[in-house]
Parts: sequence; structure tokens; C-alpha cells
Amino acid sequence: MGKPPTQTPDKSTHTTAESLVLVATGEGKGKSTAAFGTALRSLAQGWNVAVVQFFKSDGWHVGEEKMCRQLGVDWFAAGDGFTWDSDDLEESKAKAIAAWQCASNLIKAGEHRLIILDEVSYAMTWQWIDPADVAAALKKRPSNVSIFLTGRDMAGEVIEAADTVTEMKNSKHAFDAGIIAKKGIDF
Ligand code: ATP
Ligand code: MG
Repeated sequence: MGKPPTQTPDKSTHTTAESLVLVATGEGKGKSTAAFGTALRSLAQGWNVAVVQFFKSDGWHVGEEKMCRQLGVDWFAAGDGFTWDSDDLEESKAKAIAAWQCASNLIKAGEHRLIILDEVSYAMTWQWIDPADVAAALKKRPSNVSIFLTGRDMAGEVIEAADTVTEMKNSKHAFDAGIIAKKGIDF
């Protein structure tokens, strides 16, 4: 049996940071949820928050978009604002590249104190955007801009550039028992 801790951790050598880079990756549920939970904390501090959603599918993730917009979050979804006429894969690629352009401009602009790059990892896995460019943008960010990146198989360069990296481990998921995504819980 464990015992409750009696000593507070020694923080005497710790310093404060103006901003942080966070990553939620891995196979388990909770990556995007963690990013949006952090958005609530940032909003509570009166910070400007932006979300760039790298892959948009109709009817999916509507819950967080609706509430974030209501709370004043600037929301950018891949594919908004322009059309593309070619096959589906090329369309996804073009949208992801445009989403990265949007994200990189937001980072440079420094007008948001938290920027969430939701599902950005896949655009790197499929070599649509270069992880080295993403890592460079993270390193060169304005000093008070925190960035939260989500998605499975996050590129090593990004993990290396981050301050806090959490690997979600899938111990059990309702989907494996045949239960489909649940409104109010999963989206
Ligand atoms: P969430 O948005 O719930 O935090 P996530 O961001 O960690 O999940 P994604 O890979 O973005 O995970 O998947 C989004 C959707 O897939 C969610 O509905 C989520 O419940 C579901 N999902 C996440 N992990 C798993 C898993 N291991 N098996 C099946 N479905 C999953
Ligand atoms: Mg997600």
C-alpha cells in the first residue's frame, strides 16, 4: 500500500517560462481533449487562443468548435476559405499545406498566447509538411506564444523541440468493444 507524500517537491532550482511547447501523441484517446482542456485554462487567463485543425471531416469535432467559437477562440480549419478541384488525396494534401501556412503565420504574428495545432502529426507522417520546418517555427516562436500539437506518431524533430510530451497509452477503448463514437464525449 502506498502512503500519501509528506514532502513537497523541491522547486528551488526551477525557473518560470514565458511560454511552452506541448505535444499529446500516442495511440490512446485524449490527445485533442487535452489540448482543448488547456485552451480553457488559457481563456480563463484572458489569453487570445487560436486553433488550426489540420483535418476536417463533416460532423466531427463539432462540439469543441462550437464552444471554442463561443468563447472567442479564433478557429481555422483546413480547407476553409478556398476550393480545390482534384482527387481526394491531393485535396487533403493541399488543405494540410495551407493549414500549415496558416499556422506558421499565426505563430510568427504573436497575437495568440496559445495556438493549438490539432492533428498536425499526420501531415508530417505523410510528408506533406516538413517536420524540420515545424520544429524551426517552434524554436523561433515569439517568446510568449505557447503551442500545443496533437496527433499520433508525432515527428521526432517536434518531440525534441517540445517542453512537455505526453504519450497517450491505449489501455482500453470503447470502440474495440464495438461502441461507436459518442456525442458529448467523443465529439
Ligand atoms: P479525443 O479527441 O477524444 O481526445 P484523440 O485526439 O486522442 O481523441 P484521435 O486520433 O484524434 O484521438 O481520434 C479522434 C476520435 O477517435 C475520437 O472520437 C476518439 O474517441 C477516437 N479514438 C481515439 N483513440 C482511439 C482508439 N485507441 N481506438 C478507437 N478510437 C479512438
Ligand atoms: Mg484528436
